[in-house]
Amino acid sequence: MGSEGRHWPLPEDAPAFADLSRCVHCGLCVTACPTYVVTGREAESPRGRLYLARAVSEGRIGLTEAVEAHWDLCLQCRACEAVCPSGVPYGRIMEHVRAQVAAAPAKGRFARRLRRLVLRNLVARPGVLAAAVAPVRWFAGSRTRRLAVKAGLLRLPSMVGRLEKQLPHAPGRPLRAGDALPEVEAASSRAVLFTGCVMGELFGNVHRATARVLARAGIQALAAPGQVCCGALSAHDGDLAFARGLARRNIEALELVGEDPIIVDAAGCGAALKEYEQLLAGDREYAVRARAFAARVRDASEFVAELPMKVPARLGARVTYQDPCHLAHAQRIREAPRRLLAGIDGCTLVETVASDLCCGAAGTYGLLQPAMSAALRARKAAAFHRVRPDAVATANPGCQMQYEAAVREAGLSARVVHVMELLDEAQARAGG
Ligand code: SF4
Ligand code: SF4
Repeated sequence: MGSEGRHWPLPEDAPAFADLSRCVHCGLCVTACPTYVVTGREAESPRGRLYLARAVSEGRIGLTEAVEAHWDLCLQCRACEAVCPSGVPYGRIMEHVRAQVAAAPAKGRFARRLRRLVLRNLVARPGVLAAAVAPVRWFAGSRTRRLAVKAGLLRLPSMVGRLEKQLPHAPGRPLRAGDALPEVEAASSRAVLFTGCVMGELFGNVHRATARVLARAGIQALAAPGQVCCGALSAHDGDLAFARGLARRNIEALELVGEDPIIVDAAGCGAALKEYEQLLAGDREYAVRARAFAARVRDASEFVAELPMKVPARLGARVTYQDPCHLAHAQRIREAPRRLLAGIDGCTLVETVASDLCCGAAGTYGLLQPAMSAALRARKAAAFHRVRPDAVATANPGCQMQYEAAVREAGLSARVVHVMELLDEAQARAGG
């Protein structure tokens, strides 16, 4: 941190001036930015947001509500980072900027505090989260939901209606840290399955599909005990101290099971786990351990696509794949999921326009910025309407939920699935 850090309310977590000064204002990132695409405004572009951050850092402007509003609208999708020729670490900068906003004595502080309270005491506490999600999971697959939708009861209160549209239709049983997975006979190796927080509660069926795909390749998946939320939501919210605490707990828990690869089927979690080294760079005790941990982390599609053993898979369907931002932009993985889908006998992969443009889910963003989230979802709905797929495949729980709503908005009956679910189903059909 340079002397410019003094202009921020939380100098110890100020965005590094060296990071900010890497931007040469070339503008190559601007049209990749979803908020710029929707608004056409420079202040809602990465270059604009970086300019504001640098101006605050140098004390030329204050941390006003207007400035904060431009940062708040950022989805942290990191599309800008992926195209930037100067290597501006935008994701890291924005996490540190959000830490400053959270510490600033501005209006809206109550809402920020409430959000932090929820992330710390609900999302990151497995027992509390399980109790909170249980009724949601019940409702998602219930007759009550179908009747309420049919009767139009969920059209009135907008937030409830919005959330209902996003719920998966058959969430299945949860899969949590420490849960047993079927034993693989004569397994040749082992892999840790990262269970996550909401992912394990609402998308246990995706975890089980991933475990079955691994099992067919002779790999025993293990939902290792002691693992907790990856901390991505807290880090994106600027609660870096809390995110670091979760990172330390995950490192400790997963060190105990040896050096097996850590397989992640939620793109947001995968990106966060791979960046633990960066998150804990200032921690003398954990920095080296974080590097070793991050080296074990693999996205499920990345890992499966590289397995030498190819399992037959068959499924007659037109499938479109939509890149989760934290897979395409943060982890730079675009080909592996497409290769897996294209390798399924009978599967026709249809591309939409802007498959890598953020869907507007972005963790808690849909709740905080409903208008921008809806505008981005509408673009996806229009894209789906044009290609009329049988299934929309992706690799992140938030995106899956957003696509459930987009498919309905497009008036289609396409299924929304994780790549691993589709692969598992296709392998099972082919007799695997
Ligand atoms: S962030 Fe990168 S791409 Fe965007 S204006 Fe700055 S240097 Fe150019
Ligand atoms: S992270 Fe996404 S929304 Fe934010 S500035 Fe970059 S491209 Fe735009």
